[in-house]
Parts: sequence; C-alpha cells; structure tokens
Amino acid sequence: MIVSMIKKSEDSSQLLRVTITSNKEIAPGVYYLSYQRTHDFLAGQVIKVSLDENNPPRIYSICSGNLDPETSILFNIKEGGLLTPKMARLRPGDNLLVSAPYGGFISSGQSEWWISTGTGIAPFYSMIRSGLGNKCRLIHGVRSESQFYFQKEIRSVMGEHYMTCCSGEEVPGSFYGRVTDWLSALDELPTNIKYYLCGKALMVVDVRDLLIERGIPFENIMAEIYF
Ligand SMILES: Cc1cc2nc3c(=O)[nH]c(=O)nc-3n(C[C@H](O)[C@H](O)[C@H](O)COP(=O)(O)OP(=O)(O)OC[C@H]3O[C@@H](n4cnc5c(N)ncnc54)[C@H](O)[C@@H]3O)c2cc1C
Repeated sequence: MIVSMIKKSEDSSQLLRVTITSNKEIAPGVYYLSYQRTHDFLAGQVIKVSLDENNPPRIYSICSGNLDPETSILFNIKEGGLLTPKMARLRPGDNLLVSAPYGGFISSGQSEWWISTGTGIAPFYSMIRSGLGNKCRLIHGVRSESQFYFQKEIRSVMGEHYMTCCSGEEVPGSFYGRVTDWLSALDELPTNIKYYLCGKALMVVDVRDLLIERGIPFENIMAEIYF
C-alpha cells in the first residue's frame, strides 16, 4: 500500500500523504496528476490538496472514474499561485497531501445538461468514466483546440451529445464562440431537466442568468465554481 495515514479521520479537513504515480502535461500548462485511489467517492466530488502541512490546501474536482484504480485531478498552472506551479513540477514517487473526497455536485442519474469551461470538464469526465454519460449532454468551452481534454474518449461515449465550443480559434466540428453564444443560439432549452455548470465564476454566472432568462427554474441549476 503506497498510502500512509497522517490522521485517521475521513473528515475532509484531515490530509493523507499519497505517492504520485503520474503527472502529465496534457496541454500547454495543464496537468493530469494521479495517485493510487485511497477512498470510494461519487463522481463530481472534490478533494483538498496541499504539498505540506504549512500551506493551505486548494480544492480540485476528481477527474477519474469511481472504479478507476487511480484518483486523478486536472489542473492548470496559475502564475504566481501558491500550489499549481510547484504541483506541476512533481514527478512519480513524489508525495502530496490529499483529503477524503467530499462535496455535493452529484449527478441525479437522470437526463441532464452539463456545461463547463476549461478544467471545469473534470467532474463531468469523472461522471462519464463512472458510467453516467449516457442520458446527458455535455457542452465544453475552451479558448484553443488543445484544451478539449479527453475529447476522443468523451466523443466515443456521448457522440452527438458532446458539443465543443472554441472561442479563440476556428476548429472544424466545433462551435466558434463561447458556450453562452451557443446556448443563446438555441431556439429552445428543456426546462424540466437539471443543468450542471462548472468552471470559472464569470462563466457560471453568465450561463446561470441565461438559463433563468430562458425559463429554467433556479432549483434546476447546480453550480461548482472554481474560484
Ligand atoms: C470547488 C472547487 C473546485 C476546483 N476544482 C479545480 C480543478 O478541478 N482544477 C483546477 O485547475 N482548479 C480547480 N479549482 C481552483 C483551485 O482550487 C485553485 O484555486 C487553483 O488551482 C489555483 O491555485 P494556486 O494555489 O496555484 O493559486 P493561488 O495561490 O490561489 O493564486 C491564484 C491566482 O491569484 C493570484 N494571487 C494570489 N494571491 C493574490 C493576492 N493577494 N493579490 C492578487 N493576486 C493574487 C496568483 O498570482 C494566481 O494567479 C477549484 C476550486 C474550487 C473552489
């Protein structure tokens, strides 16, 4: 077993020391980091991550399936950030402190629309790998084509229900513009399903406002904001 307990509680404020099994740069400045799975979790949940006990942890969505042998996160380097520039330099065999998974951004298992930008794809990729992608539609917005993480795998599961929007360049097969532009162009939006939004605050607020304007009840909108 490569995991040693720092504290025994499963409370998310307690951190466990884990050993990194891989940390790959999958797009410029964007990393997919994995360690051997320590806990059961529900797709959509998050973990706290830190390099050592002296630094405050940051929160990351789990970006792997609930039965995958490894737990993974997807993160981008924030210049001047406390954690991500150092985390990007970690290699297999290095240690990281992680919490037990927690959080309530959980799929209902019914038909849903999932809307994300950038690394906000993480909880939805976890849901897809956990077998929850069949009844849902995923809209992913990015600035450049290299940021359509896991595109092939997602397309193979979701087919036409996976919509990509690229705002920074024209990409064949993708909508040229933001997710809000794509949503605005639709004649109708289903009002009787749940919408799950994940990404930066600005996108989440803009999409939420748009959905409410289009008649989606507030209680049908779930949001996970990366602040
Ligand atoms: C629920 C949740 C889930 C999340 N999931 C993910 C995820 O899956 N993937 C992901 O990439 N991120 C995710 N995040 C964001 C993540 O937690 C971190 O905030 C992010 O990775 C940056 O961490 P950092 O320590 O490198 O940067 P920080 O130290 O937090 O700094 C962030 C930026 O602010 C600037 N800054 C810092 N301090 C100051 C200051 N005093 N004044 C002005 N500027 C300042 C820094 O230069 C940097 O550019 C999530 C956040 C939440 C809340």
